[in-house]
Amino acid sequence: MGSPETLSVDVLIVGAGPTGLFAAYYAGFRGLSMAVVDSLPETGGQVTAMYPEKLIYDVGGFPAVRGRDLIKGLVEQAGQWNPTYLLGRKAEALTSTPDGLEMTLDGGDVVRAGAVLITAGIGEFTPRPLPAGDGWLGRGLVHFVPALEAHRGQDVVVVGGGDSAFDWVLALRSIASSVTLVHRRSRFRAAESIVREAREAGVRIITDAEVTALRGNGTDGALAEIEVEPKGGERLVLPAQTVVAALGFTADLGPIENWGLKIDHRSIEVDSTMATARERVYAAGDVAAYPGKVKLIATGFGEAATAINNIAVLLDPDAHLFPGHSSNAE
Ligand SMILES: Cc1cc2nc3c(=O)[nH]c(=O)nc-3n(C[C@H](O)[C@H](O)[C@H](O)COP(=O)(O)OP(=O)(O)OC[C@H]3O[C@@H](n4cnc5c(N)ncnc54)[C@H](O)[C@@H]3O)c2cc1C
Repeated sequence: MGSPETLSVDVLIVGAGPTGLFAAYYAGFRGLSMAVVDSLPETGGQVTAMYPEKLIYDVGGFPAVRGRDLIKGLVEQAGQWNPTYLLGRKAEALTSTPDGLEMTLDGGDVVRAGAVLITAGIGEFTPRPLPAGDGWLGRGLVHFVPALEAHRGQDVVVVGGGDSAFDWVLALRSIASSVTLVHRRSRFRAAESIVREAREAGVRIITDAEVTALRGNGTDGALAEIEVEPKGGERLVLPAQTVVAALGFTADLGPIENWGLKIDHRSIEVDSTMATARERVYAAGDVAAYPGKVKLIATGFGEAATAINNIAVLLDPDAHLFPGHSSNAE
């Protein structure tokens, strides 16, 4: 979308995590047009942001599936219906019109929809910034590694001490020319087994150290090296074409709090059709709450199907709630 523009769809899905992606597939299966908005630049929600390299063991049909591969499959499954993805865009303000809803995104673009499905998980993620990295984001400093191959032959420094920092280190070590982990404490938040694996793989780990500067190469300004200051030790300069700041995320429902929904403990109350307190607005996945709720990917998939089938009837009262079996579809 240019700025500001208007897009019209049957269903606007807010959140491109596993629930939102499956909902996009399901909307297409029900013959509905859809757009999916996410404030992150990548699809996959928590899975992409926090554990893309981990194996997930409790998604039906996959004895074990890597987070990254599950999201790839969901994007491919939804892709058959050509969803419009509005990534790196925040859904901000929701207004009702005589025949539907209008969502204003940051930047002023508007999406008109017959129904909105909120699959916003734990809310909008904001990566915790690397203080010394001010101005380097997108110029060598990243918070995610969506395509490992982009770092082939590079010197990569990963900053952080949690599971995702170690996940990136282990995933990149056979692709990058060098991988170094820098952590400001001596203890790690990451699971002991993954720390051991990194040590046994010979990854250089610098603890009790702060990143104090990022510097360019002087010709095209691309990131070339970083400066690290160990507590009480001499400053080190490490070559780095990429710095992965894996310092965690803060999550916040933010604008959703103002959409006239019933919200309790950062979750949206829904009924058994996944309808919220506001007409034409549904919620599914981690963000949706009802008695007995269990926050899992598998649950989100089921709730997405329930929400979309009910939305199909809302938008066309002659439609059947039961979609028929996908195995019978041509
Ligand atoms: C480390 C870790 C391991 C896990 N392991 C498992 C596991 O093994 N099995 C399992 O079932 N579950 C696991 N989970 C939980 C699982 O990841 C979540 O249940 C799942 O991601 C929920 O999916 P979702 O699509 O509902 O929400 P999310 O994945 O949270 O996605 C929501 C998306 O909405 C976006 N968003 C929010 N507000 C806005 C807005 N206003 N505008 C635009 N975009 C917005 C966010 O940016 C985000 O991308 C794990 C979670 C973590 C953190």
